[in-house]
Amino acid sequence: GDAGVPGRVRVAVRLRPRNGEELIADADFADCVELQPELKRLKLRKNNWDTDTFEFDEVLTEYASQKRVYEVVAKPVVEGVLDGYNGTIMAYGQTGTGKTYTLGQLGEEDVADRGIMVRAMEDILAEVSLETDSISVSYLQLYMETVQDLLDPSNDNIAIVEDPKNGDVSLPGATLVEIRDQQSFLELLQLGEAHRFAANTKLNTESSRSHAILMVNVRRSMKTRDGLSSESNGNSHMTKSLKPPVVRKGKLVVVDLAGSERINKSGSEGHTLEEAKSINLSLSALGKCINALAENSSHVPFRDSKLTRLLRDSFGGTARTSLVITIGPSPRHRGETTSTIMFGQRAM
Ligand code: ADP
Ligand code: MG
Repeated sequence: GDAGVPGRVRVAVRLRPRNGEELIADADFADCVELQPELKRLKLRKNNWDTDTFEFDEVLTEYASQKRVYEVVAKPVVEGVLDGYNGTIMAYGQTGTGKTYTLGQLGEEDVADRGIMVRAMEDILAEVSLETDSISVSYLQLYMETVQDLLDPSNDNIAIVEDPKNGDVSLPGATLVEIRDQQSFLELLQLGEAHRFAANTKLNTESSRSHAILMVNVRRSMKTRDGLSSESNGNSHMTKSLKPPVVRKGKLVVVDLAGSERINKSGSEGHTLEEAKSINLSLSALGKCINALAENSSHVPFRDSKLTRLLRDSFGGTARTSLVITIGPSPRHRGETTSTIMFGQRAM
């Protein structure tokens, strides 16, 4: 499909490099995929002599830098938000394939490692004027169909409210923090991560079994042409003819999805079966909404899960949506890699 076009989902695939273990243990085996980035193609090995070929909007190899990934996956969405349109950036894939690296990496040791959240805020801070505009952030975890506030652990069951008039989705119970500089944003992400770890330890679960959701609200007061000219002549009585500034509001939602792997159905680890059901419910609801958009269907089943209810105003319509599917190279995970690729293909 077309780049940056509202109403459809732009899908990129990103391959993680082999990790140390895979370099040694799988040294004699070829990767299960072969990428042709110029052709925007991915070849999935079926066996020694046969491959399936898939096309994506963008194919990012193990050599793609975080900067390049930001530019192709996120930048068009962030630009839309600055222009007053909502947008969503999501990462989908098996645990360990690089969703959090792609979205949430802070780059404390090397700024080149910074992921999409940090780069998006950098671009937003560079564009807005903090005298007239505001940036406010919420950070949430969605676990077992419950929305938890990662900025206030006592806030563990937040309601999703939809405005019947304009369809705006809001979370009146969630902490909203004003951001004025990059440092305070990095601290907010670190605090959220620490709270997420503590909450999941208490619930005896892992972060791969919940969705992490960052919401960035950008509110800008755009001066009209008349306003600018009467202000610039410095004549105070002229300010009476100033038109009220036009307010532009855009919301960016960044979703680090729960691991897409099929969790052992036996449910031997306590509530694992309930977790698996809940993850399957939300990821399949998301898949259905993405498919409905791809097919231009008049009915998008947003109501089927909290995840899709939360995304309702930032998904389809005038919003820009970007999905990055993350895969690993190991032939051992060919089954999971195949199902991730199929999820991405259905979105196109
Ligand atoms: P997920 O969030 O999907 O479970 P992670 O983002 O935690 O996966 O990635 C798993 C490991 O692989 C981490 O140690 C991460 O730093 C590393 N990793 C993932 N993607 C890349 C990449 N493109 N380049 C280098 N290291 C990566
Ligand atoms: Mg992760």
